[in-house]
Amino acid sequence: MANLVIKNGIVYDPLNNINGEKKDIAIKNGIIAEKGNGGKVIDASGMIIMPGGVDIHSHIAGSKVNSGRFLRPEDHRKEGIKKTKITRSGTGYSVPSTWVTGYKYAVMGWTTVAEPATPPLKTRHTHEEFNDIPIIDKCCFPVFGNNWFVLDYISEGDMDKLAAYIAWLLRACKGYAVKLVNPGGVENWGWGKNVDSLDDMVLHFEVTPRQIINSLGEANERLGLPHTIHVHGNNLGHPGVYKITKETFKAVQGMKSHKSRKTFMHFTHLHFNAYGGTGWKDFGSEAAELADYLNQHDNISFDVGQAIYGDTTTMTGDGPWEYALQGIVSAMGWGTKGGFKWINGQVEAECGSGVVPYIFSPKNPVNAVQWAIGLELMLHFKDPWRSFLTSDHPNGGPFVNYPNVISWLMSKEARKELLGKSHKNATQKTTLGDLDREYTLNEICIITRAGTAKCLGMTNKGHLGVGATGDIAIYNLTPEEKDPKKIAKAFSQAAYTIKDGVIVAKDGEIIVAPMGQIIWNDVKLPKNIENALMEDLKKKWSAYYSVNLANYPIEEHELINSAPITINAK
Ligand SMILES: [Zn+2]
Repeated sequence: MANLVIKNGIVYDPLNNINGEKKDIAIKNGIIAEKGNGGKVIDASGMIIMPGGVDIHSHIAGSKVNSGRFLRPEDHRKEGIKKTKITRSGTGYSVPSTWVTGYKYAVMGWTTVAEPATPPLKTRHTHEEFNDIPIIDKCCFPVFGNNWFVLDYISEGDMDKLAAYIAWLLRACKGYAVKLVNPGGVENWGWGKNVDSLDDMVLHFEVTPRQIINSLGEANERLGLPHTIHVHGNNLGHPGVYKITKETFKAVQGMKSHKSRKTFMHFTHLHFNAYGGTGWKDFGSEAAELADYLNQHDNISFDVGQAIYGDTTTMTGDGPWEYALQGIVSAMGWGTKGGFKWINGQVEAECGSGVVPYIFSPKNPVNAVQWAIGLELMLHFKDPWRSFLTSDHPNGGPFVNYPNVISWLMSKEARKELLGKSHKNATQKTTLGDLDREYTLNEICIITRAGTAKCLGMTNKGHLGVGATGDIAIYNLTPEEKDPKKIAKAFSQAAYTIKDGVIVAKDGEIIVAPMGQIIWNDVKLPKNIENALMEDLKKKWSAYYSVNLANYPIEEHELINSAPITINAK
């Protein structure tokens, strides 16, 4: 691998307490080194340097993403990349094809992305697509919150088997973290029902969402997994949902994290769970209340799931929500007679899903408030190490809009301008217009790479210290720049994106497109516990599944650039 020295740039490396200092960065054999010797030199005069972006939550691969591609041929007319000597051709704005996904992230200076919801049974598909997404490193989170083995072990109070099952499933799926989607609600949806409180029962299992969250969290910490449980809360998207969101925050107070971190839960795309009101007519924001709570309790992190005006494709493992959303969209008169197109699915013994096209319009009173809520959360909440930039791609909007969100966070003027173009409810029903805070570049660096890498427990990413992976973004921006348009432009097209010490993109052009790694947690269990679990799985498997247990686990050779992290569970 190439050696490289980057000279004269202004460096942001918050994990190493470097906040906008002129400093040279050397890379040797793909890793950040003390000093450079030989190799290529980049003169980064007048530019800023950050670690490569680390996206903590973006739906880029797998069966539901692919269903979205099938459902939206019109999305593929919007943007295309032509075949060159280096790049393959591809299309898509909100559901881009695999190759295009890698190129677009790399052009923006992002080098690692977490696919946050893979149905375990369909994770082979996720990895097949990972194998076709170039440049960026990837990992995926299998969904656990409605899985029958999980529900059985919780109802039996068998925490040992629950932890062992998580370890086994992560290994079988080559997964990275434990995802929960509407815990309990998606299983009930199989019976046409949902859950409305943390203490509603999951039918036939006699467990509650509260028990599912706490038990999976406890097992996650017991195994010593690098990331916390990653939770998509109950009742997402509905007016008044903030109440159950706050209950969920309270439910994990006092739960013990393992030693390497303080947080016990990551609450994802919080904006969708911060809605007030009792219906769409009095729909409002409770962002300030939730942010205040989180400001006072340091065991929860979140990402925002910022809504972005425009056309997108929503997709989630929350089947009942997507069913509700297609009803809403249909009632709005979109699409043809008989409703707007949508997909709902259920995966045997594991989870569900849905896909619905959506347009966030600034003129729509609800959408305008949704847009404002995301920014309110990010501006009210004080600790950038626990609040991260996402758009829940593509749910709030496509990830290519991150540069705009950055400009809104950094510029009150930019927010004011868009607030002026939004429905008056965004001004009247939220506090956004009163918020003066402007993010610094150091804070942007935390919410897009340093903090996300730390939250994921990826210790060699998100910083530029000696020994870190040589993933770097250089932006054509000076620390003094205040023009939001110039800020957005700089972040949309890195001057240089460097992956493992190699320049992969320069000024919007892909230079070379190597395959990144697929990172997963290989959790080793004591032999006796592993054996007991396997006995149990064999006994129940044929009753639960139409596939053979022997065909279920994904073999390591099926992954291009498999990068397991070994964890020895006690
Ligand atoms: Zn999501």
